[in-house]
Amino acid sequence: MSSRMKIKAITVPDQYWWCKHRRMLKGQISFHPQDLNMPTLIKRPSQAKCCRAQAVLTPVSDPPSTTKKRVFSFGKGRSDGHKGMKGLLGGKGANLAEMACIGLSVPPGLTISTEACQEYQQIGKRLPEGLWEEALEALKMVEKEMGATLGDPSKPLLLSVRSGAAISMPGMMDTVLNIGLNDDVVAGLAAKSGERFAYDSYRRFLDMFGDVVMGIPRLLFEEKLEKMKEAKGFKLDTELKASDLKELVEQYKKVYLEAKGEAFPSDPKQQLFLAVKAVFDSWDSPRAIKYRSINQITGLKGTAVNIQCMVFGNMGETSGTGVLFTRNPSTGEKKLYGEFLVNAQGEDVVAGIRTPQDLDTMKRCMPEAYKELVENCEILERHYKDMMDIEFTVQENRLWMLQCRTGKRTGKGAVKMAVDMVNEGLIDTRTAITRVEPQHLDQLLHPQFENPSAYKDKVVATGLPASPGAAVGQVVFSADDAEGGHAQGKSVILVRTETSPEDVGGMHAAAGILTARGGMTSHAAVVARGWGKCCVAGCSDIRVNDKEKTVTIGGLVIKEGDWISLNGSTGEVILGKQPLSPPALSGDLETFMSWADKVRRLKVMANADTPADALTARNNGAQGIGLCRTEHMFFASDERIKAVRKMIMAVTPEQRKVALDLLLPYQRSDFEGIFRAMDGLPVTIRLLDPPLHEFLPEGELDYIVNELAAETGMTGDEIISRIEKLSEVNPMLGFRGCRLGISYPELTEMQARAIFQAAVSVTNHGGKVLPEIMVPLVGTPQELRHQVELIRNVAKQVFAETSTTVTYKVGTMIEVPRAALIADEIAKEADFFSFGTNDLTQMTFGYSRDDVAKFLPIYISKGILQNDPFEFLDQQGVGQLVKVATEKGRGAKPSLKVGICGEHGGEPSSVAFFHEVGLDYVSCSPFRVPIARLAAAQVAV
Ligand code: PEP
Ligand code: MG
Repeated sequence: MSSRMKIKAITVPDQYWWCKHRRMLKGQISFHPQDLNMPTLIKRPSQAKCCRAQAVLTPVSDPPSTTKKRVFSFGKGRSDGHKGMKGLLGGKGANLAEMACIGLSVPPGLTISTEACQEYQQIGKRLPEGLWEEALEALKMVEKEMGATLGDPSKPLLLSVRSGAAISMPGMMDTVLNIGLNDDVVAGLAAKSGERFAYDSYRRFLDMFGDVVMGIPRLLFEEKLEKMKEAKGFKLDTELKASDLKELVEQYKKVYLEAKGEAFPSDPKQQLFLAVKAVFDSWDSPRAIKYRSINQITGLKGTAVNIQCMVFGNMGETSGTGVLFTRNPSTGEKKLYGEFLVNAQGEDVVAGIRTPQDLDTMKRCMPEAYKELVENCEILERHYKDMMDIEFTVQENRLWMLQCRTGKRTGKGAVKMAVDMVNEGLIDTRTAITRVEPQHLDQLLHPQFENPSAYKDKVVATGLPASPGAAVGQVVFSADDAEGGHAQGKSVILVRTETSPEDVGGMHAAAGILTARGGMTSHAAVVARGWGKCCVAGCSDIRVNDKEKTVTIGGLVIKEGDWISLNGSTGEVILGKQPLSPPALSGDLETFMSWADKVRRLKVMANADTPADALTARNNGAQGIGLCRTEHMFFASDERIKAVRKMIMAVTPEQRKVALDLLLPYQRSDFEGIFRAMDGLPVTIRLLDPPLHEFLPEGELDYIVNELAAETGMTGDEIISRIEKLSEVNPMLGFRGCRLGISYPELTEMQARAIFQAAVSVTNHGGKVLPEIMVPLVGTPQELRHQVELIRNVAKQVFAETSTTVTYKVGTMIEVPRAALIADEIAKEADFFSFGTNDLTQMTFGYSRDDVAKFLPIYISKGILQNDPFEFLDQQGVGQLVKVATEKGRGAKPSLKVGICGEHGGEPSSVAFFHEVGLDYVSCSPFRVPIARLAAAQVAV
C-alpha cells in the first residue's frame, strides 16, 4: 500500500477557489494533504460551474497576481476580487465583489484600485497610462451583461461612479449618479422607461455632475427646483410632471452655461472620465483630509472608484430605495433596522431630503422584494458573522444589493451584539472580544442624566435618538463657532438644520449635535454615532435660523449662548443645564468583560486618590491602586491646605514638623479609607511629588502675602523672602519629586508614618492591607536608597509602637530617562517599578507638560508629530526606555514587579504596547479601567 493511500482525504467545506479560468468557485473540495502545496483538485467542487473535475485550483486567499492589475470586474456570480481585498479595492469594492461571488444580485460593474488613485496623485493628478483603456475594456463586460451600451439611445446604459477607501469615510468623498445621459440618450430612455422617469434622472444628473465634477454650487440648481415647485404649487419633488422636469433640464443647462461659460459635457465617455477624476480628486479635498486627521486614519493609498450599472429606485410605485442594519445599531436588538423610500434614489435617504418610512412600508408595498431582502440579510450575517449595514434598491419589484459593510454601532449595541452572537453560536468568545472597540466602552462610561424624570417639564422638543448619551452645552449655530467655543473651554451644542461633511470639525468639537432634518442614517446621525457623541437628529419641532442665530420651537426662542441639554438615547431636547451622572456597568457588559478578563495577561489597576475614587475603581474592575497621588488629598479642605502652606513656609525643620503633625491625621484617615475600599488589593501610594508653589494661593503678590500672613502668622517680609527662595525658573524640572523628601526628610517620615499607622489600624480591625510606597522622580540609586532607608525605619518604629507587623513594598517611579538607563542599579533598591510615562515623555522629548499646548497643535498639523505623545505613548522613543528599563530591572532583580501609571495606561494602543513589553500591570483613571481591561484582552487574543 502506498503511503499516499493511507492518508485520509481532507474535506474543506464551503471554500472559495480560483479555477484556471480565473473564475471564483464555491464548494466542498476534497484533497490529500500532500496536495496542499500543489493544490490539485481531487474531486469536483459541488457547485463549480466552470472547470471539469481534476482542474487545477488555487485557494482564494492566494488570489492571482494583482500587483499590476488595476481594474477589477464583478457581476452576479462572478468577481475578480473578494472581501479580503479592502486595501486594494476599498471597503465598498471588496464587499461588492464578495456579494457578487456569493450569488447576491449586485448591479455589474468594475472597481479601479486604490493603487491607481495613489499613482494618480503621485503623477500630478493624471490617470495612469493605460488605466482608462483597461476601464473601458471592463465596461464592455458590464454592457454585455446588461445588453445595454453607454451612450446608445436605443439601449441606454447609465452608470454610477462612487468612491470607497479601505476605511469608511461617510460622505467625505464624491459620488456621481446617472452618468451617460445627454439630450439623445434621455429621449431613448424616455421611450423605454417613460418620460417622467427619464427627465427626473436627467435633471438629477445635471445637478450632481455640475456640483461634484464641475464645482458649480448646488444652490444654483436647488433654487431653480424650489422656484419650479413654488410656481406649480407643489410640496414634493415627486409631484413634478415630465413637462416640468423637461423645463428644469433646460434651466439647469443654462446654469452650466452661465457658471462655466460652456455647455455641459454631453459625451458619456467624457462624463465618465471626468467623474473618475473627480472621485480621485475628492481623496485630497480639505474635508476628507480633516476627517482623516480627526479620526487618525493614516497609511491608506487612496480611494478606489466603483463604476456600476445604475439601477433605479425612482421608477414609480414598484421601485424604491433603502438602507438598513441587520440589527439595531443603537441598542443591538436583533431586528432589521432601516429606512425605505418609495420612488426615490439612494441620495434622497442619505441626504435627509425626504423623511423616510420604515421597512414595514416596503413589506407592504413590495412583499417579494422584501422577502428576498430579509433572506439576503440572513445570508450576509451568516457569511460575515457580523451585523451588516446594507444599501439596496428595488427597481420594478426587483431587488438589487448596492452595498454592504460591517455596521457601525454604539457601545451599547456592540456589547449586546457580541454577547448575543456568542449565544446564537455565530461567533466564539475570543471573536466577541474583538467586536467591541475600547472607545465603545468609553461611550458606555459617558455620563447620563442623573434623573431623567425630573426634567420632563423642561422638554421642549423631541427628535430622533440618533446617538446615545447625554450632553449639556451652550447653543452655537455654525461649525466654526463650535470649534471656537470649544477652544475657549466651553461646552457647546451645535444646532443645524442638517449637517454636511463640511461641518465635521465643529461636530467633533461640540458636546452634542441637534439637527432639524434627516433620519437615523443622515450625516449627523452616522458621524455622531461613529464618535460616540450624543446626537438628536430630525427634530422637526425646531426651526433653525442661522442668520439670526436662533432656534424657534413654537413660541419659544432659544438664542446663541443659551444652555440646553440633549438626551441622545430618547431624542429629548431639554431647556437649561441638567445634572449628569456616570453610568454603571451591568448585564451584558459584565458578561462581556468577564470574557475579556479571562484572556488578558496584564493586570489593570487604577489611579485613585480618595476612598470614593477607590470604590469607583473597584466597581469598574480595578485589581488594585497603581497610583495614589497623595498631594490631591491636600486640597480636600481649607484646614488641610492651610496646614500644607504652613509646612511650605516653614524655615526650620522644627517649624516644618509642627505643620506636618497637623497633616498626619488627615493623611492617615484617607489611607485607612482607601485600604478599606480596596480590601487587601495592592495600594500603591506615592510620596509628595509636585513643585511646592502649586499649593500657594493664586492671585496678585499682595493678596498672596496677606493670605499667607493670616494663615501662618509670619510677617510680610518673611513671606516674600520665603517665596523668593521657593520660586523656580522651570518648576517641572525643579524642586519636586524625591528631591522634596530628601531635602525635607521629615516630610517623607510623616507620610510613611501615616501610611503604616493606617495599615496597622485597618489590620487590627480585621481588614486586609497591601501597602506599596512609591518614591517619585528618582534619577540615581542614591536618591532611592535615601528614601527607602527613611521609610523602612519609620515602618520599624510604627510596628514596634503598635506591636503589629504589616507586609509592604517600597518601589520607585521610573520617569527620569537616567533612571530608565541605569534601571539595573535602581532595581537593587526597589521592590517594584512603575513607569511615570507623563514625566518620562516630558523629559525624553524635552517638552514641558505645562507649555506643550503652545506648539503641539502646530506640530501635529504640520505632520512633525503624528499625534500627542502625552496621549499616545511614543513607542519608538519613550517606549524604548520602557523596554530597556524593564529588561535591565528584571535582569538585576527577577522578582521585580513592573507597571505603568502615566496617562497612557488607559490608552488602548499604548496598553497593547505594554503587554508586548511584558509589564505586569497598567494603572489608569477609574473610568478608563474597563477600556484598559478590554485593550489588554484584545492584544492577548
Ligand atoms: C507620570 O509622570 O507619569 C505620573 C504618573 O506622575 P504625575 O503625572 O503625577 O507627574
Ligand atoms: Mg510624574
